[in-house]
Amino acid sequence: MESFNEAWAMICDYCKRQVTDVAYKTWIARITPSKLDFDKGEAVLLVPNNFHKQTLVRCYKDLLDEAMLQLFGSNINITFVVPTEDNDLVSGISPNLEDEYTFENFIVGPSNKFAHAASLAVASNPAGAYNPLFIYGSSGLGKTHILYAIFNDIRKNRPDLKTLYVKGADFTIELIDAIQHGATSAFRNKYRNADLFLVDDIQFIAGKDSTQEEFFHTFNSLYEAKKQIVLTSDRPPKEIKTLEERLRTRFEWGLIADIQPPDFETRMAIIKRKAEMLDFNISNEISEYIATRLKKNIRQLEGTVKNLKANYLLRGEKPTLSSTHDAISNILNNDQPPPLTVENIIGEVARTFAVDEEDIRSPKRSSSVSAARQVAMYVVREITQLPMVEIGREFGGRDHSTVIYALQQVDKNMKKDPTLKSTIDDIIKNIRDK
Ligand code: ADP
Ligand code: MG
Repeated sequence: MESFNEAWAMICDYCKRQVTDVAYKTWIARITPSKLDFDKGEAVLLVPNNFHKQTLVRCYKDLLDEAMLQLFGSNINITFVVPTEDNDLVSGISPNLEDEYTFENFIVGPSNKFAHAASLAVASNPAGAYNPLFIYGSSGLGKTHILYAIFNDIRKNRPDLKTLYVKGADFTIELIDAIQHGATSAFRNKYRNADLFLVDDIQFIAGKDSTQEEFFHTFNSLYEAKKQIVLTSDRPPKEIKTLEERLRTRFEWGLIADIQPPDFETRMAIIKRKAEMLDFNISNEISEYIATRLKKNIRQLEGTVKNLKANYLLRGEKPTLSSTHDAISNILNNDQPPPLTVENIIGEVARTFAVDEEDIRSPKRSSSVSAARQVAMYVVREITQLPMVEIGREFGGRDHSTVIYALQQVDKNMKKDPTLKSTIDDIIKNIRDK
């Protein structure tokens, strides 16, 4: 066995021959092997989320078992694991992600120095500097890192303060759950008692009425009590189309700081720092090779370094230009669309329309569910370009003519109703940027 990656490639190849292309792409291709130990008979496979995990256990575990047995002649005990952060794909290499997101580990350059300075000011003087602080920038440029840096700094220097970090999407999920279980007052207590409230990817609350309502009150009560609020987003407030006006103006009350893609020197410094943190040596030549090819996303820079380290661990190979080239293509391929699955889309639409995900797939015909379902079909078609027959199948085995009708309805309604159009635009953007 040359390597871990090759072993996994063989398993994938085996599975690919046994299932449909869509099933392969949706379920198998999105697994990242974290450990394949044929001597001990253990495999640890990372999967994107719990739903994915359940489906694999239910429908594809037998196939994976069979593939391992056929290819390697031994029974392998498979464990599926959902990583806490999607970028932490090589397990054992970066154990406590959030602990490492500190100011010390944040490389400052012209692209992020403003956001960095503002974050430092907020951390050293909560609610005294800028409130709220709103940080925006594209995916992979360090928003979550810097938000956690504030969090970690305050926890260390001001342990008396109650700090609360939440992702915008989780705020929504928690709220829906609280409403369903009659636990809204506990929900409110939790959020309105924070001294420092950090919300990552706030754009996900846009278009969701009850979430925005609740967030509005949370914001007001914290703001009035002079508590620090820090928000991140992939775009500035004015570009979050279905954000309520009263929230938009509030988000603009304090300071808005953007993070841009890093310049060459900053990219070099980041590569060096990430290698250092992995206790791994990368030559200047290799760093430059990476820094000249990956310019837009720091997560990809880091991913490449991790990939090289994993290769070194597994095969004892020091990075060469050619293995670096492969590592970069790997990262670029892995970063491409396929996380855009039907289940993600249905999830996002369900949250936006405040209906159950299962109802969207079910035969229910109540008007709120039907409307959400039509939009979900529309978004699925826009994003995945799946054939109508497949889309019908994903929505509880509906006929392709039902799908065509749904798409026409949504098209027609969007022309009449600009809000619906903005809502759908935001849904698409949210899913693409996830
Ligand atoms: P975002 O939240 O903007 O999508 P993240 O904060 O998750 O991006 O950053 C992606 C990865 O890049 C993280 O592992 C983070 O540590 C790293 N990173 C981003 N910016 C920097 C920086 N300035 N210095 C060091 N690492 C960085
Ligand atoms: Mg983030």
